Amino acid sequence: MYCSNTPAALGRAKAFVRPLAAHASSASQICNTSVGSACAIGAAVAGQQRTKLQQRQAQAICYPSPRFFSVSHVPKSAATEETVEKVDEVEREVMEYDVVIVGGGPAGLSAAIRLKQLAAKEDTDINVVLIEKGGEIGAHTLSGACIETGPLEELFPDWKKQGAPLNQPALEDHMKFLTESNAFPLPHPPQMNNTGNYIVSLSNVVKWLGEKAEELGVDVFPGTAAAKVVYSEDGSVRGIITNDAGVDKEFKQKSTFTPGIELHGKITLFAEGCHGSLTKGLIRKLKLRDEGKFQTYGIGIKEVWEVDPEKHSPGKIVHTMGYPLDYKTYGGGFIYHMEDNKVTLGLVVGLDYKNPYLSPYKEFQRFKAHPLVTNLLKGGNVISYGARALVEGGLQSLPKLYFAGGALIGDTAGFMNVPKIKGTHNAMKSGILAADSAYKAIITDCKGSDSDDAPIVLSEYEETFKNSSIYKELYEVRNIRPSFHTGLGIWGGIVWSGLDSIVLKGRVPFTFQHKNPDHAMLEPAAMHKPIDYPKPDNEITFDILTSVSRTGTNHAEDQPVHLRLADKTVEIRKNLPEFDGPEQRFCPAAVYEYVDDEANPGKKRFQINSQNCIHCKTCDIKDPAQNINWTVPEGGDGPNYVDT
Ligand SMILES: Cc1cc2nc3c(=O)[nH]c(=O)nc-3n(C[C@H](O)[C@H](O)[C@H](O)COP(=O)(O)OP(=O)(O)OC[C@H]3O[C@@H](n4cnc5c(N)ncnc54)[C@H](O)[C@@H]3O)c2cc1C
Ligand code: SF4
Repeated sequence: MYCSNTPAALGRAKAFVRPLAAHASSASQICNTSVGSACAIGAAVAGQQRTKLQQRQAQAICYPSPRFFSVSHVPKSAATEETVEKVDEVEREVMEYDVVIVGGGPAGLSAAIRLKQLAAKEDTDINVVLIEKGGEIGAHTLSGACIETGPLEELFPDWKKQGAPLNQPALEDHMKFLTESNAFPLPHPPQMNNTGNYIVSLSNVVKWLGEKAEELGVDVFPGTAAAKVVYSEDGSVRGIITNDAGVDKEFKQKSTFTPGIELHGKITLFAEGCHGSLTKGLIRKLKLRDEGKFQTYGIGIKEVWEVDPEKHSPGKIVHTMGYPLDYKTYGGGFIYHMEDNKVTLGLVVGLDYKNPYLSPYKEFQRFKAHPLVTNLLKGGNVISYGARALVEGGLQSLPKLYFAGGALIGDTAGFMNVPKIKGTHNAMKSGILAADSAYKAIITDCKGSDSDDAPIVLSEYEETFKNSSIYKELYEVRNIRPSFHTGLGIWGGIVWSGLDSIVLKGRVPFTFQHKNPDHAMLEPAAMHKPIDYPKPDNEITFDILTSVSRTGTNHAEDQPVHLRLADKTVEIRKNLPEFDGPEQRFCPAAVYEYVDDEANPGKKRFQINSQNCIHCKTCDIKDPAQNINWTVPEGGDGPNYVDT
């Protein structure tokens, strides 16, 4: 074992874990078995590092067996996270890294970049791998987005010169209150002032960050999903296991079966974004959140349009309140004019909504049918559609940020500033803070080396967080979101928000708490009336399947359904009679249906069209029975977002 802060040790470190690109090229040279196509893949991936791990899993390609791959025998009862696992005992390759990063969004990529920049600055080395479940970096990124550039500047002071795709400065801010047919201007809340910010496609920004990370030497593997956490015997986090490929619907191994790989790190950073599937298990298992505390969420549904140039005002930002949501439902709309006649627009609906008949998707269609929006979109074309849950709980919902062997960064921890509708800058900053602490622990303090192989505990990250800009801004706005839970509904929230944002700025000696987790806020259907949503006009408003076709989503056939039901009877037994089957409305991709049960005439059965899933995580959050568990499908599956 080594501590890689000395040149000699550094040499050993490089021998121990060579960059995968080099490994790929040696694979193409050494491979001389009968798997000719596999050799071809090896040669191809030598020049195309990003798909290698994915292809390896998909096609079981021929690899030499260098010493940095060890093999671990993982019995069914191994100390891995408990999930449905019917695959028999498998042998897994193990790859050792200094830092393993799960998730290639702004948080994960910022952490990876910072680690490599620190190493370059001090002429040391640190081995960093980043895996991303999207088929390519940015494919699963969906945001607004109008972003603050502070942390980007910290990473790349010359980002403009380097060609970062931030081309449209925010130029004008408007806030409107909508009724069904009118739009009234409102005073603009100070925290929503966007001077100095940029309107971007976050998926494009993330793609660019991915390229920068690769240039700096990070092993970046899109198309690779982390399926399980690996724990050491002492309970610390050791790393993750990527998803097995070639498992059929019945969880049986197919001829193409390729076991997932164990990626071990001295530190594992979880950057899975809002409601991460592994983070969920970690928080529960390691008790990272105090008893009685919970995260709260919203769902954002959006489209990108190309509009008539006459109607386009580059840099214009409009936020809306009111219609189509009723006064009991938290949320609002956004319309951002990007460059090239493109407009990104969406509706965020707080997932604490009570009415089980509410459909966030159809509320978004109503939003577009409002004259303010319709007039803008008429004559234009939809480029893309998508949806994603976002964190709303703020400071009082944050879990403990670190544990032995790793830490949570970005939205998976919950740093989104909801009143601002911004989380990207905080996600990036948290990645930077965690990277600083990780680098110090591994390289400067030589922790995790042979002489000190106790698991690394990144408590310093939480300390730096408490002194950071993230904490300061989340503290200031901590009472705004929960203020919408008073009996005055949205009006109480608006009054408090105005007072708090303009006068108090969080300087009150109390902190409002959130009422209940979102799933527990849903009320029985008997307490509500069905909502009569208008039919789509196919010009501005569309049916859900047409929209899903614009997400590029795809899931390989014959794999286990990644939406797991703890109890297969609950939907029909409870959710249908009590809540009129809310899954068929809260899912923005028509994954869930209650269809006639041919085997039991007059009865319904619950159907999961998992191939439509766009990974928004709403079902895992809002299911009133908490019976749906979102797990990762095969890496590379899911949406393939463009310009979102
Ligand atoms: C509708 C909407 C509008 C928004 N508007 C704005 C805005 O205008 N400005 C702003 O600053 N912020 C905005 N945000 C918030 C912003 O998008 C997030 O704060 C930011 O993306 C968080 O970055 P992250 O890296 O933590 O997570 P993400 O961007 O969600 O990235 C997480 C990545 O991890 C991957 N991943 C997850 N689990 C796994 C796994 N197990 N294995 C492998 N990969 C995995 C995901 O595919 C994803 O690519 C908005 C969000 C939404 C939904
Ligand atoms: S199944 Fe769940 S995660 Fe997938 S799109 Fe529907 S609500 Fe979102």
